[in-house]
Amino acid sequence: MHLSGKIGIIGGSGFYNIEGIKSVKEIKVKTPFGDPSSEYVTGMLEGAEVVFLARHDKGHRILPSEINYRANIYGMKKLGVERIISVSACGSLKEDLKPLDIVVPSQFVDRTNSGRDMTFFGNGIVAHIQFADPVCPHLSKELYDAGIKAGASMHLGGTYVNMEGPQFSTKAESRLYRSWGMDIIGMTNLAEAKLAREAEMCYATLACITDYDCWHMDQAVESVSVEMIIQNLLKNVDVSKKIVKSVLPKLSKGKDCSCEHALKDSIITRPDVIPAKVKKDLELIIGKYIK
Ligand SMILES: [Zn+2]
Repeated sequence: MHLSGKIGIIGGSGFYNIEGIKSVKEIKVKTPFGDPSSEYVTGMLEGAEVVFLARHDKGHRILPSEINYRANIYGMKKLGVERIISVSACGSLKEDLKPLDIVVPSQFVDRTNSGRDMTFFGNGIVAHIQFADPVCPHLSKELYDAGIKAGASMHLGGTYVNMEGPQFSTKAESRLYRSWGMDIIGMTNLAEAKLAREAEMCYATLACITDYDCWHMDQAVESVSVEMIIQNLLKNVDVSKKIVKSVLPKLSKGKDCSCEHALKDSIITRPDVIPAKVKKDLELIIGKYIK
């Protein structure tokens, strides 16, 4: 059992800040991959050291395809984060996953257009991490338990389809994903999960359902699809903030998972042929394996 480091919180749509952080500091972080979405907000929350980042920036000005996922995750690592709680809005692809329910997904399927950078490797260094189980099981269970205690309708496990966006699905796409047995749909989490794993950080998601994508008959009623989605989004943000606050004291007890060793034996490249600049840029991530 490893004692706890800092907890990162990435807030999605509607979740641009978290109230109650003590000794607040805003920190601008430079990374070899460019600028993160925003300044990081650090401080103490419920007895834990936290680092908060608004995924789309505070004024929601960055598209899912435009987010610099590498910079966001690298910045978290640089600030000493060991575990990341991601909070995201999503659509439901199943009748029993209702708006306002929260899913802690266990799997992802990639439906992006491969335009976004989802790895720290390349440019002379090759690594292949295990990604069969793409989220931290320990952090996921803690989030689920905290959600139940907060009175939310929680679902542990399920598959998150990561679409490109920014447009929502067509009905044909939505029905296709349902026929594949997918559970929820969103635009951002897969890249974060991949990069967090490469950087040996725990990652888990509170995927908060705002609507039934477009396959559902109710969704065809316009009043349901616009006003209600926004109302649901705001309600979800309130509940997810409660869950985050209530899980933090639990996480101070430490973690019991293998995320922090994810890169061990995964770097294939012979160390002496890795370019010096790559070694320097990635030292934070590969330094314990490559000298
Ligand atoms: Zn973990």
